[in-house]
Formats: sequence, C-alpha cells, structure tokens
Amino acid sequence: MDENSTQIVKRYFKEYYFRFGARIKSPSEIESREFGYLPFAGMMVRHLSFKDIGALHALLLKEAPAGVYCSNSTYEDPTAEMYLKNWKKAALIFDIDADALKQPCKKVHDIWLCKECGRKEFGLRPEFCPSCKSNRLLELSWACPMCLEAAKKETNRLIEFLEFDFGIESSEIKVYFSGNAGYHVSVEKSSFDTLDTRGRAEIADYLTARGLSSKILSSQKFLPTDAGWRRRIAKYIRNLPEIDQSFKSSQYEDRLFELSKFSKKEVETFMNRLIAENSVRIDAMVTTDVHRIFRMPETLNNKTGLVKRECGKELANFDPLREAIAVQDGEQRSRIFVDICPKIELGGESYGPFKSETRDLPLYVGVYIVSKGGGKFLSEQSNVASQNEIVSNRRA
Ligand SMILES: [Zn+2]
Ligand SMILES: [Zn+2]
Repeated sequence: MDENSTQIVKRYFKEYYFRFGARIKSPSEIESREFGYLPFAGMMVRHLSFKDIGALHALLLKEAPAGVYCSNSTYEDPTAEMYLKNWKKAALIFDIDADALKQPCKKVHDIWLCKECGRKEFGLRPEFCPSCKSNRLLELSWACPMCLEAAKKETNRLIEFLEFDFGIESSEIKVYFSGNAGYHVSVEKSSFDTLDTRGRAEIADYLTARGLSSKILSSQKFLPTDAGWRRRIAKYIRNLPEIDQSFKSSQYEDRLFELSKFSKKEVETFMNRLIAENSVRIDAMVTTDVHRIFRMPETLNNKTGLVKRECGKELANFDPLREAIAVQDGEQRSRIFVDICPKIELGGESYGPFKSETRDLPLYVGVYIVSKGGGKFLSEQSNVASQNEIVSNRRA
C-alpha cells in the first residue's frame, strides 16, 4: 500500500477506535492473556499484557494498529518467552474461511496478477500468463454474499457438531464474522479447555472427517441411533431425497442392501460425496495451535477495514456486509484510483466491477477496496456526496 493510502486507512481506523473502541470488551482473566498488535508499518508486536481493558483502549487510540490480537490461552506469565509462559488452558477456536469452500462464483470475482508483466484479470488463476508465459501468478480472492452464505452454512454445521457430538452448551458457543471472508467460532468454557495440541488435532480430524475410511460403508455397521460419524452416515443415507443419484430405492434398509453391492469405485465416489456434505471445512491449524493470538472481537480487519463482530443469537439474520461496517458515514467520501475490483456489495449498495478507473466512493467502500489491494486513494474528501454515483450504483 502506498504511503498516502496507508495514512488514510490508518486515520479511518483511528476514527473507529475513537468513536467505538469502548465496544471492545475485556476477555475473561485479562491479566493471564497475551496480547499483540500489528502496526501499519513494521512487525507484529507480541507478548504484551494488560491489567485492564482501559489500558488496551488507550493503546488503540494512540497506535490505531492494523490488527489487534489476544491469546485464546491463559498463562502464568503472558509476557514471557513462549516456552516460559506456563500455559494454563485455552478456549477451543475454529476458523471457517469462505475461500476454502471454493464456491463457483470465485471464477467471477477472484483476480489473478502476473508478477512478471503486471497483467491483472478477473477469473481463476491460469497456469501461465497469456501475455508473458510466466508462471509467477498471484491469486487475489474476494468474497461475495454467496461465498459468505456458504461460510455461514458451514458454521451452522460446526455448531451442530459442537452441541451434539461434543456436548458443548450452546450458551458457551460464540460466533463472530471474521471481518474478512468467514466466521470465527469460540467455545469459552468447556471440558476441552485443558486439551493439548494433539487432543485438539483429534477434534479437527473428527470435524473434517480426516482418516474416516470408506470401509465403514462396506461394514454397514451404522444406525441412526448410533453415536458420532456412524449416526451421521446413517441419517444422511436415510434422509437423502426419494430420487437420488446414488440409490435406486428410497427405503433405508433397501439402500443399505444396495450399498453392499456397490463396486469399490462407487463406494469411493459415495464416500467423497458423504464427506463433502457432512464434514466441516475448518482451518485445522487454527484449532490445534494453542499459542496463537487471535483477532479480537470488535477490532478492525486490515484486509478489509471491516469489524470482527459477534453475530448474536440468530446467525441466519446476521448480514456481515451491512453489520460489520466500521464507520458508515455516508457523508465521508473518497476518491480512489481502482486498479481492479469485482462487483462488491457493501452497506446495502453494490459497486463495480471497476478496472483502471477513478471513482468517488463512500470512504468505507474506498477503505475496503484499497485494503483488498484493488486500488489506491487519490484524496480523501469529506462531505462531497456525489448523488449521481449512488444512483448509477443502484442501477448496476
Ligand atoms: Zn505476465
Ligand atoms: Zn463468491
């Protein structure tokens, strides 16, 4: 990001922390947590500790950092070197990223960039740049409402797993929009708090169905009244629609009989389908790492300028592209040169697609595009609402 753009984004972050910083709540046992922040220029600052949340609020006002993080673990000495911290326990955390769900819309809104000749185009990354034949191509992923809806569906499935398979109280499960392209789920208190990395890896494997063998299908040892994956498989087969691509009959017992006659290849195909439709695609690294510092709720995500925000009880009603805007002040406009930006939706309006053009946009839209690497600020204008722009965007 160029210097001018960085300054404008930083000022926007500062305004957010000035107006809304008090929304950042203290984590439990704050004095046992490790904090960190990423400045707009420079390296991550870690191993910080705060006695109370007021001290963190003050730091955010002063620094207006690009990212603010807190450990999901508690330690005896959070400021010590990692191996001297004396780990106590950690909340279970999960990260669901829309990009990993590979929705078909990616080929419309993703962008590739050739590091050799600078060519940029919409669409999935080709193997070689058509202009210069280089294979040094970067992929820039964007998330649309469809991607975010898919991530929400995945999150609901995760919650179902946590409640049914792990017996976690729903009141302990908190769901957050990550501020970029997915959801974070954290379990504040559970019997898994003291589980080490290996134990957490087992949970991640269970959720992603890693190591689940197709032999289970040939064994036919599963009933809807079973526990764990056996219950899931049985219910899945029983609840498939009457007319289904894999089975001729619609009755559960008949389907089991058909399954026993499946060829090896058919078993594999059905297993892949079963896993795709029943597992949860989490980022296992996040769940297993107990020394991570994790983006704090109500702080800004530097990849978008949006807020990491708690979704509330009704996840279905939460609209991240409306409810996670940091400072939605229609009066604040900005002029940006947009290099390349797919059609985006933000704050109930749609913008773009844009390619190599100058645009006057609401400041929060400008911050979003610039933070995603789609362009740069030419100036920041306040109170110059260009009505034509809004009307033309509505029509688009
Ligand atoms: Zn090229
Ligand atoms: Zn999409």
